[in-house]
Amino acid sequence: MNNRVTRAAGGVLLLVGVFLLLVVLMEVFGTQGGSGLAKFWPLAVGLPLVVVGGWLLQRGVEPPSYSSTLVCPGCGRRSRGDARFCAACGAELG
Ligand SMILES: [Zn+2]
Repeated sequence: MNNRVTRAAGGVLLLVGVFLLLVVLMEVFGTQGGSGLAKFWPLAVGLPLVVVGGWLLQRGVEPPSYSSTLVCPGCGRRSRGDARFCAACGAELG
């Protein structure tokens, strides 16, 4: 997955998760009574969202040295992102 997409998805998940946790906090400190289960479903959904969102954000900022590839301008062969020369024809890679 693209790093920018990963970071964006992680940010959205994190925001939604934090929002749901805030909703739970407002419910707990704001209102009395009501059904107990309905009160805590945002907690059950929000907590995993925060964890997954944070994990995606962390993944998104890792250097992409092994996941990205370079395409040789001479022969079109793909090489590792940190390669300096094409393995097939020896041309210098960007
Ligand atoms: Zn080449």
